[in-house]
Amino acid sequence: VPKTEVLLEFRDVGKAFGGLRAVNGVNLAVLDGSITALIGPNGSGKTTLFNLVTGIAGGHSGEIRLAGRPLTGLPPWTRAHLGLGRTFQVTRLFKAMTVMENVVAPLRGFAPGVLASDAVAGHEADRARELLSFVGLGRFTTERAGALSYGQQKLVELAQVLMLEPRMVLLDEPAGGISPGLVDRMAEIIRELNHRGVTFLVVEHNIPMVLDLCDSVFVVAGGSVLAAGPPEIIRSNPAVLDAYLGG
Ligand code: ADP
Repeated sequence: VPKTEVLLEFRDVGKAFGGLRAVNGVNLAVLDGSITALIGPNGSGKTTLFNLVTGIAGGHSGEIRLAGRPLTGLPPWTRAHLGLGRTFQVTRLFKAMTVMENVVAPLRGFAPGVLASDAVAGHEADRARELLSFVGLGRFTTERAGALSYGQQKLVELAQVLMLEPRMVLLDEPAGGISPGLVDRMAEIIRELNHRGVTFLVVEHNIPMVLDLCDSVFVVAGGSVLAAGPPEIIRSNPAVLDAYLGG
């Protein structure tokens, strides 16, 4: 099926922190059903773009739309219920709680007190178990999240995000700091979810993974889009190589 409908769109988006323009005139479109990568050197504005999409950061110029709907002014939880999920570069799990409790956390407003006092049961537990088996962690439901490897924790966070059945997921360095075996599994899981209809925007420094996984790439540098196109642009565009690998 050709991917032609725009799901997430940035129109001339800018964001400043004091005098620093972290994001500057960004136009970007993520096609529905795609796996789109956002690459660029550290400090180029990738995390800020993510934060603007999820609503953690506000006060930007220009417009951000999801399925044609302007997101401006909507709080993060409203955006989550519109179908936007995200993972973090460094996972934000409750390390002392079980894997299962962490996966159902989005349904309970991420409130640790509520999580600790309420047993996970019924439909919630079934769905959480299903997602944990899907990411290959079915054996770890009752383990403390903090006892798992860093890569496994990233998979728990992915299962957690899937609990709200997102239409689109922003992944912040899904392969960062995890073992090569888990990188492959992570890529397979992302691909499978994409086949099931989930659109992805991925910040990732693992270029072989990006080349292999993504339909489309946006290269950012200094808060602006430097190049956009199929993954081959990374290899063929000297300016991209320079911005990304140079400095
Ligand atoms: P990347 O994710 O590509 O590494 P960031 O979006 O984190 O880039 O950062 C872009 C620029 O904005 C950097 O210069 C960074 O120091 C700055 N920046 C990011 N967040 C803040 C903030 N909360 N306050 C001030 N400056 C920030």
